[in-house]
Amino acid sequence: MTEGVFGRDGGHEQVVYCQDPQTGLKAIIAVHSTALGPALGGVRFYPYESERDALDDVLALSMGMSYKSALAGLDLGGGKAVIIGDPDTLKSEPLLRAYGRFVDSLGGRYITACDVGTYVADMDMIARETTFVTGRSSDDGGSGDPSGMTAYGVFQGMRAAAEHRWGSPDLRGKRVGVSGVGKVGRLLVDHLVEAGAEVVVTDVSEAAIDRVRAAHPSVRVVADTAELVSCDLDVYAPCALGGALDDATVAALRAEIVCGSANNQLAHSGVEKLLDERGILYAPDYLVNSGGLIQVSDELHGFNYERARRKVSGLFDMTKKVFALAEEEGVPPATAADRLAERRMAEVSRLRMIR
Ligand code: NAD
Repeated sequence: MTEGVFGRDGGHEQVVYCQDPQTGLKAIIAVHSTALGPALGGVRFYPYESERDALDDVLALSMGMSYKSALAGLDLGGGKAVIIGDPDTLKSEPLLRAYGRFVDSLGGRYITACDVGTYVADMDMIARETTFVTGRSSDDGGSGDPSGMTAYGVFQGMRAAAEHRWGSPDLRGKRVGVSGVGKVGRLLVDHLVEAGAEVVVTDVSEAAIDRVRAAHPSVRVVADTAELVSCDLDVYAPCALGGALDDATVAALRAEIVCGSANNQLAHSGVEKLLDERGILYAPDYLVNSGGLIQVSDELHGFNYERARRKVSGLFDMTKKVFALAEEEGVPPATAADRLAERRMAEVSRLRMIR
């Protein structure tokens, strides 16, 4: 990994603590980098055990956003916010609006969006206090739920991986296992079935499974992720929680490609090498799941669905570019993705010197 200003150890530009005792708001906003533009990233509303846990999370998440935006080709930096507390009991109009005022006070250096525990309706509320917000409802000039665009981007990444591995992007007849058929996973299944793939799914939620069964009776269901991973798959798509790829899972995997929507799939650093050693082609998570980010960022230009979808289609070429660089430089695709993102941040920010 590159060291220095644009490496993963490069530090953050700004970290802001926000407090409003009357509403119970306790938030931290982290701006990792504005090298490519304003720092966009969601606000996570979560009952952290301690302020330290919240800080660690927001620092890691905001850095991840810098890489994600850079690789997606957006003119955006990386930022993220956390609100400490249980959203079910603490969330209120005054609290969200107080948060909106703090976002506004940063003058556009940070632009907020949805994340775990925050929804489109919350963004509409925050938008009453600041214009630096995306992920709003279509009624409010936003683009609505980004899950569809995320699923479409993962599908494009998977086609690119298929072309790299098998010489054709066609997924017809390929057996694809999807773990987690929630908002993104089930829409990915739609694309896969339409493309003629043979789909196997699993989910801990019976309701989620029932929805997929109703839409696609041909889809096979297995008991859990461990069983799915040991199936004779061509592609494995983790679409549930982070940490999906640990040592045991990589050892058990029979698929030749891993490409899914889940964030932070690599359980620890070094797993990307294990995948490489086993000859499994890993499509970096933060690249292939950037369709949702591309959608919400398009709101900054007045949302246009076709334009956003065209940009998300571009993830096909970008995924191929990452695989090509990985081969050229003899590194796993996850490392190649980081290098491409770091190079873009360094090259574009250098241009600011030209007046
Ligand atoms: P979701 O909560 O709608 O769906 C997740 C699904 O995974 C649920 O159906 C849940 O029951 C299932 N699940 C949980 N634990 C499981 C387990 N152990 N085994 C099998 N299934 C399990 O979430 P989502 O919006 O579909 O997001 C899925 C993943 O993609 C998350 O990691 C999220 O961070 C990431 N992601 C989502 C978006 C988006 O636009 N929604 C964008 C980028 C990344």
